Amino acid sequence: MNKEPVDVLIIGAGASGAAIAWSLLETRMQILCLEQGPHVPDSQFPSRREDYELARYAEFSCDPNVRKLKYDYPINVEKSCITPVNYNAVGGSTINFLGHWPRMKPSDFRTATLDGVASDWPVDYATLEPFYAMNDQITGVSGLAGNPAYPDYAPGLPPIPMGKLGQTLARGFNTMGWHWWPSDAAILSEDRDGRQKCVNAGTCDLGCAAGAKGGTNFTYWPMLENAGVELRCESRVRKILVDENTGLATGVLYHGSDGQLHEQKAELVIIACNGIGTPRLLLNSTSRLFPEGLANRSDQVGRNLMFHPLTGVSGVFDEPMMGHEGPMACSILSQQFYESDTERNFVRGYGLHSGRSTTPMTFALGGFGVDQPIAWGAAHREIMDTVYPYLAGLTVVAEDLPEAHNRVTLDASLVDSDGMAAPKVEYRLGENTKAMLKHGTQRASEVLYAAGAKRVLAKNSDEVWWRAGWHQMGTCRMGEDPNSSVVNGWGRCHDVKNLFIVDGSIFVTAGAVNPTSTIQALALYIGDSIKKNIANLFD
Ligand SMILES: Cc1cc2nc3c(=O)[nH]c(=O)nc-3n(C[C@H](O)[C@H](O)[C@H](O)COP(=O)(O)OP(=O)(O)OC[C@H]3O[C@@H](n4cnc5c(N)ncnc54)[C@H](O)[C@@H]3O)c2cc1C
Ligand code: SF4
Repeated sequence: MNKEPVDVLIIGAGASGAAIAWSLLETRMQILCLEQGPHVPDSQFPSRREDYELARYAEFSCDPNVRKLKYDYPINVEKSCITPVNYNAVGGSTINFLGHWPRMKPSDFRTATLDGVASDWPVDYATLEPFYAMNDQITGVSGLAGNPAYPDYAPGLPPIPMGKLGQTLARGFNTMGWHWWPSDAAILSEDRDGRQKCVNAGTCDLGCAAGAKGGTNFTYWPMLENAGVELRCESRVRKILVDENTGLATGVLYHGSDGQLHEQKAELVIIACNGIGTPRLLLNSTSRLFPEGLANRSDQVGRNLMFHPLTGVSGVFDEPMMGHEGPMACSILSQQFYESDTERNFVRGYGLHSGRSTTPMTFALGGFGVDQPIAWGAAHREIMDTVYPYLAGLTVVAEDLPEAHNRVTLDASLVDSDGMAAPKVEYRLGENTKAMLKHGTQRASEVLYAAGAKRVLAKNSDEVWWRAGWHQMGTCRMGEDPNSSVVNGWGRCHDVKNLFIVDGSIFVTAGAVNPTSTIQALALYIGDSIKKNIANLFD
């Protein structure tokens, strides 16, 4: 193991860590990435096994509190109505993500100006557009150009087939006269670069063994390792070190695969540990200069946690919907109710995403992210025979607003396998979000009936999906003012000039779309800004 100082040290090998490593390759700086998890070969993905569904409730659960692997860290969620989920390995949460790939919209970056809520981002859509395009090209994105809800752009590959379920729902949207469009997906609809196109097995959260899904384990990392980026796995960073005289980061202390604590020095440190892991690491990195946690003079580290609170509405149709066929991510997406409307009792809006049905056992156990098992005995048989095959559903994906009391702190006693303090999440739904979910539930029912549903099944819209903390944002937000934000407009910590953050924690607002396309576009943008400012990076 080379312990010499490196130029760039990236912490976390997930979506954002991989993207910024790629951006910095051309600088020819020496890049090292420390990742707490292992390389998981695709031969070990449960999607290859007959009993694949069992893995969803055990070693391949998206919930680290269920998986409990050595590489995971526990999360105290006693005071949260949503539990954060993830995967900790090379590829990060793109190992088990679903590959739904919508971009944020221009209005998402300007909510203070347009809607009088939250803050504007220090970057806008137009600035990020070339980086969205670059990331799409590397990842491999399927979709249909011309979506009227966005400025013009073209996904590189034809859309993933909508399936019977998508076609049925689209008819409902047409009847209502509401916007819909085939979903963009970071999933190959054609073979490309040695990766196989999607085989429609519908097991995307259990690792895509075909390599069709654009996890960074299949996209960025093979290129990066070939180009000489050192990836040191099973290496959990415990603390970022600072020089008490200069206030600059000097490197990190990490637990290596040998079980020992090591020091790694670096000129530039980049954190890419996601919206929970990043504040956790900063809060663990206390020192005389930063007694409340590194880069936390603003007291904003860990605050403003945003998820996308979700609820689902399903229609029961006359014909089988074949909903389990095809990738789990959305087949169509409506943004009819995305923007603010003064006629409504909430600001901003939500998306209606057509979730495909889950595999049978997951349905019986209550659905992906829901966890409320259906009845047992004769009623169970009845539901599996007369409801499950005929279902088509819509997920209401609400835009969360930043609220300081929704936050990540450190738990006083819970620790991971290396004895490092675990994060504690306190999160409750805002009134704006509740109003949005209620409105979305009603509109989803209307469109399902318009599509021909005989019956609509909806839960109380206040009951959000518990295990759907897939998107974690806002806990180290960007901004120009060091008193109210953690990083500046290009990801550099206000308090530590050689420390950058590139993951979803720097989001200022959440939008109502899955975030990874934007997370990676931002990471590429930050890499580009580092290159442009290289001569006076630490001034
Ligand atoms: C089940 C599921 C479904 C999802 N579906 C979608 C979807 O359809 N579309 C979408 O856009 N997004 C989806 N997401 C979210 C998406 O996966 C994340 O937005 C994205 O991976 C976040 O990127 P990141 O770089 O911030 O963090 P991650 O990809 O989570 O990477 C963080 C990495 O940092 C490592 N790390 C953390 N702490 C340390 C430490 N102290 N030392 C060393 N390493 C550390 C972790 O092990 C991990 O590998 C889904 C997520 C899940 C879990
Ligand atoms: S459905 Fe497609 S993207 Fe999902 S796991 Fe199968 S091949 Fe991969």
